Amino acid sequence: MLYITCSECSGFNPKCAKCGGGGEQPVYRCPSYYARGGGNEFMAAYRAFSDHGVLPTGGAYLEQSAEFVRMVGVVDRERAVLEREKGDG
Ligand SMILES: [Zn+2]
Repeated sequence: MLYITCSECSGFNPKCAKCGGGGEQPVYRCPSYYARGGGNEFMAAYRAFSDHGVLPTGGAYLEQSAEFVRMVGVVDRERAVLEREKGDG
């Protein structure tokens, strides 16, 4: 079974109704389903920020859209999980 970070709480709500506080949710369908709806555009913006420090719009980091700031946190946490798993191997 494949698990992803909880889409409701991003792993930060120990009382989350969706994940029960575990911070993860199982994936029951093709993972490409979750990549629809602007995911490619977000990842391009994330890479520009992560690799080059370029933000999608003018202003400071916390002046970006709430969705961008939230998704940066989600991707950073997923990357940390992958790095931990690589370290365990
Ligand atoms: Zn949750």
